[in-house]
Amino acid sequence: MCVFCKIVAGEIPSNVLYEDENIIVIPDINPEAPVHLLLIPKLHLDNIMEISPELAGNIFSKIREIAKKFNIEENGFRIVINTGKDGGQTVEHLHIHLLAGRELLWPAG
Ligand code: AMP
Ligand code: ZN
Repeated sequence: MCVFCKIVAGEIPSNVLYEDENIIVIPDINPEAPVHLLLIPKLHLDNIMEISPELAGNIFSKIREIAKKFNIEENGFRIVINTGKDGGQTVEHLHIHLLAGRELLWPAG
């Protein structure tokens, strides 16, 4: 089982900040911003290439609610999905980074 499947299953303890039928939200263990959350689908998918339109729509439709919950809708935020080697993906279980709480640099290095 991969590390995020273990977190979803409760085998690795984590601070689950939000949960619904499809996703959990946890703080990133190595935060790059004052707010750095990971939206993790409960279903193991290696990366975004494997997502169904239904799950994609479901997750993206929740981002507004999550942004409001963490009080970042006013100042803004960034969502990032690293994919594959060149995308810098290090955990092969699809996850969406949600970064906020400071002005973020662009373009990515
Ligand atoms: P990525 O490089 O896009 O695959 O992102 C993986 C992210 O998962 C990194 O930002 C890590 O800091 C984070 N991470 C790895 N293991 C854990 C964990 N056990 N709990 C929370 N975050 C983790
Ligand atoms: Zn997994």
